[in-house]
Formats: sequence, structure tokens, C-alpha cells
Amino acid sequence: MKSLWNDAEAAQFSGPLGPRVYTSRLLGRDRSLVLHGGGNTSVKLREKNLFGEEEDVLYVKGSGWDLETIEPAGFTPVALGYVRKLAGLPSLSDPQMVNELNTHMLRAGAPSPSVETILHASLPHKYVDHTHADAVLSVSNAPDGEKRIREIYGDRVVVIPYIMAGFDLAAYCAREFSRQAGGKTVGMVLLSHGIFSFGPDARTSYELMIELVSMAEDYLAKKKAWSVGVAPRAPGAMKREDVAALRRAISDQAGFPMVLKVNDTPKFLGFAQHPELERLSQQGPATPDHVIRTKPFPMIGRDVGGYARRYREYFERFSAKAKEKKTMLDAAPRMALDPQLGFVAAGRTAKDTAIVEELYDHTIDVILRSEALGGWRALDQQHTFDIEYWDLEQAKLRKAGSPPVFAGEVVLVTGAASGIGKACVEAFLKRGAAVVGLDRNAAVTSQWKRPDFLGIECDLTDARAIQGGLDAAVKRFGGIDMLVLNAGIFPSSQAIQDIAADSWRSAMTVNVEANLLVMQACHPLLKLAPRGGRIVVVGSKDVPAPGPGAAAYSASKAALNQLARVAALEWGKDGIRINTLHPNAVYDTALWTDEVLASRAKAYNQTVEQYKKNNLLRTEVASKDVAELAAEMCGPLFAKTTAAQVPVDGGNERVV
Ligand SMILES: [Zn+2]
Repeated sequence: MKSLWNDAEAAQFSGPLGPRVYTSRLLGRDRSLVLHGGGNTSVKLREKNLFGEEEDVLYVKGSGWDLETIEPAGFTPVALGYVRKLAGLPSLSDPQMVNELNTHMLRAGAPSPSVETILHASLPHKYVDHTHADAVLSVSNAPDGEKRIREIYGDRVVVIPYIMAGFDLAAYCAREFSRQAGGKTVGMVLLSHGIFSFGPDARTSYELMIELVSMAEDYLAKKKAWSVGVAPRAPGAMKREDVAALRRAISDQAGFPMVLKVNDTPKFLGFAQHPELERLSQQGPATPDHVIRTKPFPMIGRDVGGYARRYREYFERFSAKAKEKKTMLDAAPRMALDPQLGFVAAGRTAKDTAIVEELYDHTIDVILRSEALGGWRALDQQHTFDIEYWDLEQAKLRKAGSPPVFAGEVVLVTGAASGIGKACVEAFLKRGAAVVGLDRNAAVTSQWKRPDFLGIECDLTDARAIQGGLDAAVKRFGGIDMLVLNAGIFPSSQAIQDIAADSWRSAMTVNVEANLLVMQACHPLLKLAPRGGRIVVVGSKDVPAPGPGAAAYSASKAALNQLARVAALEWGKDGIRINTLHPNAVYDTALWTDEVLASRAKAYNQTVEQYKKNNLLRTEVASKDVAELAAEMCGPLFAKTTAAQVPVDGGNERVV
């Protein structure tokens, strides 16, 4: 592990907190040190208050901030003298601790200080850095972990047994640190939890962290326990319907829809096929705080009911010993290891699945390295339970509020790169759905850079390309709940006697047949949607009220409309509802080039301006208006409606 310190970069971080922000970010950049909000850092500063009096202030990472992206505002100032004194109390309950910390903050509106604040306060050093380094966990979770840690570090670190984060840990460390620390002490290892380093300045403390973690890495390398991947014994064999069925079962067990992410890269697949998978995977997480996102153990295979029984047993066993009454969380797995699929992460959002996947990526390393040292052993499950059902964690969950309407659901939008399709992507993202955007325009692949969007370049007239697109979609999100059939073409205006066969055929191919192919390919997935499948067809005003000169377009959209109506008849029994909206005069789309607009206006003997607002409400209809209706048609408002055709056209005399 190398120091990432760079003088030029460091110089850009000014002010009293500058160096603290900079080295915190350096720690955050290395995923083998901290993951997703894990780890914390602090600095002790002397500051003048409004009366000119000097005060000792501890700036400690606030909850909700990630080290990688932390800003000065992410550090919460607390009264150091007072908080340090707390460590000497004989006991302090969690709610009391939270109250004491929150009432001794020195900036209104600062985030709640880390649960490890008292521990930071009780250490004498100006800068304190804390990570959950993979290498240290690998060593401390191997047989004789403590002995090995002492062998690596000698008297350079203080060693603390596992105690749950919070007051008890802080009080224990405060006592034990002064007992064990000597002239050479530069750090502290918390067994099965992580490591601290400290120093008089930010750089020293950071570089000591790198040095200490490197010592654990070197130890692992020396013991041939560093490069430990297991190659898969058989290739992966993902079938879309299998994944969608698994997603359905997990969502049903959870009581709400969840997104899945499948990872069958050699590292994950190899681990999922490990001959000792049961022993290695079922003991517990690499460090207990992963449990909030991962649950205490992954599911092996796809027996969701079996997993739920096992989880319920775990809950009953440990909740019986708890002081307060605990409320059981849902019993659905957040991770599965399957010899065919590899690793599967489950979460309420695509971001959650990405986090679970990353946590397990590091967990595999920790497990296999400990194993190479003589046998992986996780911390006692009681400790994992204590974190999972910790009051402070349960309070966080309660605060989360109700999720957006499409949380955990997946929509596929065709023609997603522009116009109505692009607006649909935004309307669904806003409502919490994971979105798959298909378009023959490659721009779709990079249009939205976020974990809940997957853009795929795809020609919908090519059945093989559709299959490939759906494979990618299911691998990334686990299934498809909603389908917006938006892609279409508008051939240039021609009188019937002038229509070329090619132009007619391409209207039928793109506007009708491609939609049939997509519907056919998606049907088995829609059938497995936890809340029932939904399809929205972007039709056209030309269906009820065709225009002269647009025979190919009008006929193809009418055929699509008929296809949708028959689908409502055939697929109602599968719980799939399909509704059509008929937009008109939506001019902010790719279809409406100036040329097409001029020619359509001419066909109605109007100016372009008249033609644009030619509706009963004299209003403009934008892509966004259509997209909002498309999204609502997939939501609870339309839960009892199928085969509807709804105009979104400002009112049209000929349709009325
Ligand atoms: Zn920690």
C-alpha cells in the first residue's frame, strides 16, 4: 500500500481543517481501507470563541459523510474537554451518549458526530485516523489473530479486543490506552474491527496508517496469504428468467420490490463455487458494521424460504438475550452465492446493490486471506446481531421515511436517447425506478452517469440485439417491471400513390414489428414483476384521427395500437396491464425536424405557429408532459386500468 500524499494537491486544501480534509479523502480513495461511510477521522484544534477565550475543539467526521468526498462542513466541532470527560463515566446508555454529543456540538446544524467521537476525544494526539483495513481484518480474523497482530506490530500499537462501537468501547480504550501505550506507540488495533493511527500533523498520522496497514499486507504476503483468488470450476450459466424468478421470490419475502445485481466475474463465481462455501460464507461478515447492508450471512443457492427460516432462527436466538424488545427486520437475503449465477446482491435501490457488491468484493479477500493463514473465523454472531439490531441503527432506518413510488422497480424505455424517451427516463428516475434505456443512438450509453441507469445501444429491429440488451439489463437490475414502448419513426410526408415500398416497410418494421419483438422478449420478465408488469405504448393522435400524407405512420401506429389491445386481452391473466397514450403536437422531439413541421403545417393549410398550438386548450404539449403521464400510467393511479387509450394533446376536435 502506497502513500497517496502529494504536496501540490495538499497545498490546495487551506484553512485550519484543510490538511484534515485532504488526508481524510486520501484514506477514502483506497477501498481496501474504508468502504461507504466506514472509517472516521478527527483533529483537535484550539480556537477563540466570541469572547476571545481559547477553547479546545474536536472536529470529528459527522454521520452521513463519506471520507472520500468529505468537506470541512462534514466535520462536526464538539467541546473536547467535556466529551473527553464522558469516557470516565461508569456507564452511559446509547440515547444518553447521542444526547450528550448532540448538545455539545459547537455549530448549529452540523451533522451528528460519529459514534466513535468519545474514543477520538480520549486519544491524546492532535490527528487521529481510523479505518477498517482489509489486511488488518484478514490477520485478526485468522487463528491466533491477536498473537499475530502483536507479532507484526510489537509495541507500536495498543491492542483492544472486540467491543461494539459506542460508549463501552471508548471507555475501555481510554483506560487501556494509557495502560498499554509507551514511547513507541503510533497506533491502535481493534480486533475484528479496524485500526487507528495518530500523529501531531495530518501527514504523519496518514502515513503511519499506510505504514501500519502495509506491515499487515507484508505479513500476509510472507505467509503466502496475499494473492488468494479461486478460479471458477465451471462457467457461469445465467438465464434471464431464473434471475427474475429469484428477484420475485426475494421481493415477495421482503414485502417490497428489490433490485438485484448479478456478478459472475471469475473472482465472485470462483468463490460461489468454493468447495467449502458453507463454512466460509455462513459465519458472518468481515467486520460487523457490514451487517446493516448485507445481513449476517449470504443465501447459498436460491432457496429464499430456507434463508428466511434461518434468518428468523438467528433473530429469535439473539433477540431473546437482548435487554429491550427488538422488532425483526424483513427476512429476505441481501446477498446470494450460487454456483451458476455467481454472486447476487439485492437492495432497495441500484446504489444499494452496488454497495453490497463492493462490500462483498472485499469480504472475499478478507475471508480467503484469513483462510490461507490457517482458517477464517468471523466474530461471534452475537456481536453481529448487536450491530444489526442496535437502537441507533434501528433509529436511522425509522428516520429514512417512505421510499419513492417505484423504489426497487425496473423500467425499460425504448428510444431513450432523445425526445419523449429521454423525458421518460427522467420521469422514472425521479420516481425511484432503475432505468434501462435502449436506443440505436450510442449516446444513450453515457447520457446519465448514475448507478440506477443502464444505457444500451440497440437496434430494435434486430431480435438478437434485443436479447443481448435484456441479458445486460437483467444482470444489472434483476428483471423488468415496466416497459415504455416509445421508439418510432415518422417517414417523410407522402401521398398514398407516392409511398415507396421501402418507406412503408420501414414504418411497419420499426413502429410495429420491433415493438412486438420487445414485448415478446419481455413477457416472461414482466410476468415475474413483484407488483405486476406494466406496459405503456406511446401511440399517436393519428390513431383516432389520421392525417393526410401520413399513411405509413398512421397505419403503423394503428397496428401497434391494435397489438396493445390484444396484449391487454392475452396478458391480463399474467397480471400485466398495458395502456396507450396518444400524444399530438409534441415538437421537442427528434421526429419533428423543421422540414417535417413545415410539411405537416402545409398539409393542414396552417402556419407552423398555428399548427403548434392547434388544440382546444391552446397549449403546447412538451415531451415532459407525455413522460409524466407515461410514468403515472405505471403507478398506483392506473392500478385497475388496462387497455385504456388516453390522449395527451391539449384537446383535439377530431378526437373529441
Ligand atoms: Zn470503526
